[in-house]
Amino acid sequence: MIKKILVANRGEIAIRIIRSCREMGIKSVAVYSDADRTSSHVRSADEAYNIGPAPSNESYLVIDNIIEVAKKSGADAIHPGYGFLSENANFTDRCEKEGIIFIGPSSYAINTMGDKITARKKMQSANVPVVPGTTEPITDINKAIEIIHQIGLPVMIKASAGGGGKGMRLVTKKEDIVSAVTSAKSEALASFSNDAVYIEKYINSPHHIEFQIVADKHGNCVHLFERECSVQRRHQKVVEETPSPIMTAKVRSEMGKHAVAAAKAVNYSGAGTIEFIVDDELNYYFLEMNTRLQVEHPITERVVGVDLVKTQINIANGEPLKFKQEDLKQNGHAIEVRIYAEDPDNNFMPNPGKIEHITEPLGFGVRHDGYVYAGYEIPVHYDPLISKLIVWASTRSEAIDRLKRALYAYKITGIKTSIPFLSRILDVPDFVNGKYNTHFIQDNEKYLKADKNPPQRVKDISAIAAFVDYLNNLDKYKEQRFCKPQLNNWKTFGRKKNVTRL
Ligand code: ADP
Ligand code: ADP
Ligand code: MG
Repeated sequence: MIKKILVANRGEIAIRIIRSCREMGIKSVAVYSDADRTSSHVRSADEAYNIGPAPSNESYLVIDNIIEVAKKSGADAIHPGYGFLSENANFTDRCEKEGIIFIGPSSYAINTMGDKITARKKMQSANVPVVPGTTEPITDINKAIEIIHQIGLPVMIKASAGGGGKGMRLVTKKEDIVSAVTSAKSEALASFSNDAVYIEKYINSPHHIEFQIVADKHGNCVHLFERECSVQRRHQKVVEETPSPIMTAKVRSEMGKHAVAAAKAVNYSGAGTIEFIVDDELNYYFLEMNTRLQVEHPITERVVGVDLVKTQINIANGEPLKFKQEDLKQNGHAIEVRIYAEDPDNNFMPNPGKIEHITEPLGFGVRHDGYVYAGYEIPVHYDPLISKLIVWASTRSEAIDRLKRALYAYKITGIKTSIPFLSRILDVPDFVNGKYNTHFIQDNEKYLKADKNPPQRVKDISAIAAFVDYLNNLDKYKEQRFCKPQLNNWKTFGRKKNVTRL
């Protein structure tokens, strides 16, 4: 049985994992880089160890350093969180070699699903629908042009090793094919040290809908329904919700079966996500599998009522799943927004810096997974995610109202955040009506710009500023008031004698 877990990550996800460890009576070990000495994930664990300088390739990505801490602290398992080493098969193998339990799937599953071309072939053989396109890397540009001609434009050129929205190019015109292939290849080489790219048909009006699955080591695999992640910017998720507003019971059940088949095809164990791209007619195609815990896992936890981190730990312990497919139900509606340290009104430029003040939202149906505090300086070295705000309500429209209320109550000063932008999204008619696809942000620019339709918080800040000005200049205002009494029509009307009331 696992007694002590090293969390090979930082920030909000490290804290999230440590919370489940504490509930299970498992000791936790945090690791931190020089830039993260003051991060609250360090304080929330039972023990903490420095693993090197700020850049992640000198700390969070150094397998040797993490294994050394695991041994020194006597941790019997490692949870990788998301990002960093979570999808690195060498790390999984190394853990196995050192006799440390890796809380995640086998290196075979990570390798097969981590390479999109290999995954496409595997899915085809498991009869899971994949996006029409090639299952070999592009080697000859003339052949690629010929294939694109057969598939028909538009197409996506995608990096086989791709992730985080990188190494992807949309091609709509014939004359752009060569430059798209060249730039996708060079971005893929720079980001993933692998320049293999392939061709996928571009799905029009695409919806990104993914299925959460969990599988134990005894051949049991279930899905925990879908998450709708179509509100995206640069192919990265901004808002996630479950259930999907466009899903039907029939398609949900079919997609769930295909998600389970996809996981079984690689003998998956642990928690994972099958991402699908879905068109307006609800035709769906396998996009990729993320072989780890997902950023947006809390919305599933809330609606299905399952702690996914505890489930991962139980599976790693060799326990069979505690639930069957028919035990799982979707209850109510959950929405998550990602709060970033970035300036939405300046092209989403990262805005790291010192937090002066933070008031986190609370109340019925609100969950806030964060790690920052007043006086904390957000480091420039990592993803600028500050926190995730998750709300639950019995209906979608109540969940939207609750999220608006929570965003309104969420105050951070000292840095710019995506909070105002997220609030604006919740007022866009297409979002309110649940009629949106991955083009949502681009299509609704007019609603999402700062100067249009200022949210309530901006009006409130203006009112507070006016009040502060009033307090600072009390004498001036008093003078005005007593010299020139501001008579209100209602009062004067009431004082008049002999008025005939209508
Ligand atoms: P999710 O589907 O859970 O939202 P993302 O694609 O947003 O996952 O990635 C989660 C985190 O992992 C992000 O911080 C992202 O930058 C990072 N990430 C994802 N894929 C890779 C990769 N191949 N290499 C490095 N970092 C990655
Ligand atoms: P990553 O590994 O970077 O997450 P994905 O293959 O999951 O890459 O694609 C990320 C996003 O890009 C999708 O959520 C979707 O918005 C868009 N996308 C990818 N492939 C296609 C496609 N064939 N047609 C339409 N949109 C696509
Ligand atoms: Mg993806």
